[in-house]
This record gives sequence, C-alpha cells and structure tokens, in this order.
Amino acid sequence: MKVTEHLKTAKETLFSFEILPPLKGKSIHSIYDGIDPLMEFKPKFVNVTYHREEFIYKERDNGLLEKIAIRKRPGTVGICAAIMNKYHVDAVPHLICGGFSKEETENALIDLQFLGIDNVLALRGDSIKTEATFKPHKEGHKYAVDLIHQISDMNAGNYMMDDIQLEPTDFCIGAAGYPEKHFEAMNLTTDMHYLKAKVDAGAEYIVTQMFFDNQKYFDFVDYCRAIGITVPIIPGLKPIKTLEHITFLPKFFKIDYPEALSKELLKCKDNKDVEALGIEWGIQQSKELKERNAPCIHYYTMSNSSMVKAIAKEIF
Ligand code: FAD
Repeated sequence: MKVTEHLKTAKETLFSFEILPPLKGKSIHSIYDGIDPLMEFKPKFVNVTYHREEFIYKERDNGLLEKIAIRKRPGTVGICAAIMNKYHVDAVPHLICGGFSKEETENALIDLQFLGIDNVLALRGDSIKTEATFKPHKEGHKYAVDLIHQISDMNAGNYMMDDIQLEPTDFCIGAAGYPEKHFEAMNLTTDMHYLKAKVDAGAEYIVTQMFFDNQKYFDFVDYCRAIGITVPIIPGLKPIKTLEHITFLPKFFKIDYPEALSKELLKCKDNKDVEALGIEWGIQQSKELKERNAPCIHYYTMSNSSMVKAIAKEIF
C-alpha cells in the first residue's frame, strides 16, 4: 500500500522509522533484531536507507596504491523484500542518483515493482567521502528532481528506451525536505523553490531532515503551504545518544540544537546522561508534533531501536 494511502486513512498520527542495512557480512537477523522491538507500535511503513560505494586505497606488492570501490552496506532492496515478507508492513527503499545511470535506475525500479514494493523515497545522495562535491554518474541524474521525473515518467508508461508506451508502474514517490535548509543551497528561498519543483515533478509527500526545535518544522510547513506545496510533510526525529553526537549530528547533518537543548547537553557527564536527555527531548518533541496533528512521526533509528522504543512507548 502507498504511504499516501496510509496517511489518508489514518485517524491519528502514524509511527514509522528508518533503518540502515547492516555492515556487509552481517545476517538479516541483525535487521530483525532492530525491527522486532518496534513492531508493537504498529508502523505502517519502514524505510531502508541506501548507501553508495566508497573508495579506499590498498597498497599493492610493488608499493603502488590501488583505488578500490567498496560498498559497506549493500542489500537495501533485499531487506525491503524480507521486511514485507516477515512483518507484512510496507517497506520504503531509498533510491539515490549518485552512482547510478538512468538505465540502472530504470532496472532497479522494475525489480522493485516485481517485488510488490509500492513506495520509493527519491534522493540525490551525498558526495562520496573522498570527493568534496556531489558528482553525478555521467549517464545519471544530477538532482533528486530528475530522478523523480524518471519515476513519474515510468508511472505514465514512458520508459527510457522506446517511443512506445509500456505498462505503467505505480510508485508513490517521497522526497526529502530541510527545515533548516539543505547545506548546499544558496538560501532558504532557492532551496524551497527546488523542493516545490520536486513536488511538481511527482513527489507525493515529504520527509524532513532531523530537527530538534519543533518551531523549525512548523515554520517549514507554513513556508511550504505559502508557496503552494500541499502534500503531507512528515517530521523526522533522531534521539541524541552519545557525547560524540553532541558535535557529530550538527556537523554531519548540518542542523542546529536549540539553546534550551544545548544548555542541557552541556550538563551531561557521560553517554548515559545524554541518552536519558535524548529520550526525554524526543518524547517532548513527539508529544507536541502529535498534538499539532503531524501526519506521521518518522524516527531515524541509525541501527539503534531502544531509544526509539522508549519514546514510542510514551506516544503511540
Ligand atoms: P536535491 O533535492 O537534489 O537537492 C540537493 C541540493 O541541490 C539542494 O541544495 C537543493 O537546493 C539544490 N537543487 C535541487 N534541485 C536543483 C536544481 N534543479 N538546480 C540547482 N540546484 C538544485 N542519502 C543517502 O545517500 N542515502 C539515503 O538513504 C538517504 N536518506 C535520506 C532520507 C532523508 C529523509 C533525508 C532528509 C536525507 C537522506 N539522505 C540520504 C541524504 C541526502 O541524500 C542528502 O541530504 C543530499 O545532499 C541531498 O539530497 P536531496 O534528495 O535532498 O537532493
């Protein structure tokens, strides 16, 4: 079932979460171990992130360095199929532009359709770690909007290789939104302009980057509505877990902590303190989002479901 159908038929705020594929070599049971504790909250869909290749340099016998591409977390599509089969909930694979030609994307979408997957979160993806800026595949897409156009074209029966109409796919397409602006955007106005372009191209709902100040989400929703974005906007939340997160999350995800939270974080002496605060902050954020009728609250588990469980217990 499509994410938009779940949202349309929901009587109250839905619960959903996102998982990462395990590191290569780990079994599917590590995924189930993360999902099992959250099933009691009846998620209507579970997202599975996509991780592109990284490059490492390996020293050869002759002393020269060899550049090798590795994918540390493969398996997104297989995990989605396994989740749907085991839990009978919808799985939402993330599909990215980076590293894919348009033809590979088309074939990946055909695989998804054959597996009965109705939803896709369409993203550009970040630059690979060894490159300063995002470089698209030479036969791929530069921006998420181009990927969304390709999926919408397939939904209309227009595939790449033929002029003739083929059997249309029927994917529900989601896109990413950034209440605090995407870090590369010149300013919020241009970023919002490009967000609207993603919706105009066929994105039927938006999932936000994590934020720790609900006001930023409410302002973002107001801004979207003011420029004619009418699709559901799902807030994304991430509980802070460790002392390291205090600097890592703002640095990696280009988000700010509100002052009230940073003051409390400064008082934390160890990871236990941070975890307790992370849960409490997550509960307060979730309560307010629910009270103000967020369509769904989407939690980033980042391979750790215990904190999301502690929050969900109080909310769902
Ligand atoms: P875009 O919408 O293409 O935007 C990228 C930048 O380009 C923005 O600054 C935008 O303003 C600008 N822009 C957009 N269109 C144009 C245009 N036509 N001309 C000029 N500028 C333009 N990454 C992964 O690798 N795997 C994942 O599984 C993953 N999941 C994510 C899930 C969510 C909910 C979110 C919020 C992010 C996720 N990301 C993931 C990270 C995401 O890939 C990065 O944030 C990436 O840098 C931007 O992706 P996007 O789809 O928002 O890009």
